[in-house]
Amino acid sequence: MMNLSQKVEELENLTIKKLKEKIESIRTELPREEQKVITFSKNFTLSLSNYCQNQCGYCFYNQIIPKEDKEHNIVLIKEDKINDFIQTAIRCGCTEALLMSGEAPDNFKIVQKELEKRNHVDFFQFVRSLSETLLEVSLLPHTNIGVLTFAQLQSLKEFNASMGLMIESTCESLSNSGGVHENSPGKTPENRINHIKNAGKLRIPFTTGLLLGIGENIQDRVKDLLLIKELHQKYGHIQEVIIQNFTEKSGIQYRPKKSITIEETLKTAGIAKLIFGNEIAIQVPPNLIQNYEKEALEMGINDFGGISPFTLDYINPNHTWPKINYLEKICESNGFEFRERLPIYKKYINKKGFCSENIKKAINNINQNVRNKKDS
Ligand code: SF4
Repeated sequence: MMNLSQKVEELENLTIKKLKEKIESIRTELPREEQKVITFSKNFTLSLSNYCQNQCGYCFYNQIIPKEDKEHNIVLIKEDKINDFIQTAIRCGCTEALLMSGEAPDNFKIVQKELEKRNHVDFFQFVRSLSETLLEVSLLPHTNIGVLTFAQLQSLKEFNASMGLMIESTCESLSNSGGVHENSPGKTPENRINHIKNAGKLRIPFTTGLLLGIGENIQDRVKDLLLIKELHQKYGHIQEVIIQNFTEKSGIQYRPKKSITIEETLKTAGIAKLIFGNEIAIQVPPNLIQNYEKEALEMGINDFGGISPFTLDYINPNHTWPKINYLEKICESNGFEFRERLPIYKKYINKKGFCSENIKKAINNINQNVRNKKDS
């Protein structure tokens, strides 16, 4: 049996040609009608609060980063904005609501005060109640608000179709002096792994992923992919893994010694495919690899993630979402079908214990609406 260094060396030395051949061969293990399908979810983002207890070196989102407009450092998203976005999402036919925020924003007095004003006990209760509201109009919440406790995950599961937390990188040196996670207590590998394990114990369909180009190396990446595989083998809950490249932005402290290239990002996606086979979907955010979509398809990705017709990528606001038609054309011209999915992957809807009754009811409504539209 190979040790980690040997495994990394073997994967690193694979030529792109060899990697593509191996990926093609993995694809053929799927039923024929599934081999050439790339999925996406039509979503919108509710950015709930920019306040965050962490200060990751590469972050563009948290409250300490000067924004173009003061208003863009949100204390707590306003009710009228929520209502506006919900109405627009319904009009656009979105099915997923991505709820995101900084981690533990109610550690800050200014957020606590706003929550009090609006009669919420704490930020978590606010998110839970918002998830319930979204479900009432058949928008399926997918929450990613940083590290949560077991009890919080359990409580949110009732009103969330799936949840997410990027593992980013478990490379220990990132938390040391000068590392990007030096001032981020929530980013310790133990905290992230524990959260993902708890989600597994609770049978929550889960999305995680790696953030590349933040000071980790290829060995760290492979180690983390193997760790995700191990967690999935134990709990069976990882539905997709995102391979995301850090992109440089003005206004942030972090300047990598060597920037991550799109080619390196896509090679990591290919390595992930070799590690996960067809068991876990692999996603690259299409707005971060624009003009390399064909190469991404060749590297075995099978998902372009959540694409919003009207909200921003708040983490990478300079990278606008491509149009769904644009991606559809690229997929078709390369022999793939571009197919919409829900934020909960199909195989988890009927997998025992993974999908709450509230979510099943909302999915039935969504399916009924699709049938009505077809009939009209
Ligand atoms: S946890 Fe997220 S929001 Fe908070 S500082 Fe890090 S990257 Fe930014």
